[in-house]
Amino acid sequence: MSMSDWEFEQLERAYERRASAEGLCLKCGVPVYFQGWTHGVAEGHIYSDAGLAEFKISGFCEYCFDLVTLPPEEDEYVDHGGWEDH
Ligand SMILES: [Zn+2]
Repeated sequence: MSMSDWEFEQLERAYERRASAEGLCLKCGVPVYFQGWTHGVAEGHIYSDAGLAEFKISGFCEYCFDLVTLPPEEDEYVDHGGWEDH
């Protein structure tokens, strides 16, 4: 017996709603907190009113939201294992 795509999607959405309701970032899973600042310094960090509003929409803390929305660096180095710690 396997889950249909529809069932899987429902489960996924239920999880996302619950995580968001509990104040957890959907990406890093860290409880979000608000601390006014000029930029995100750690996972779970929301530093502006815009970030607070964004969390309610996307469920991402502002730190993660910046990571996923910022354009990649102009150079090509990020394609060579840039996500791994060296
Ligand atoms: Zn996050």
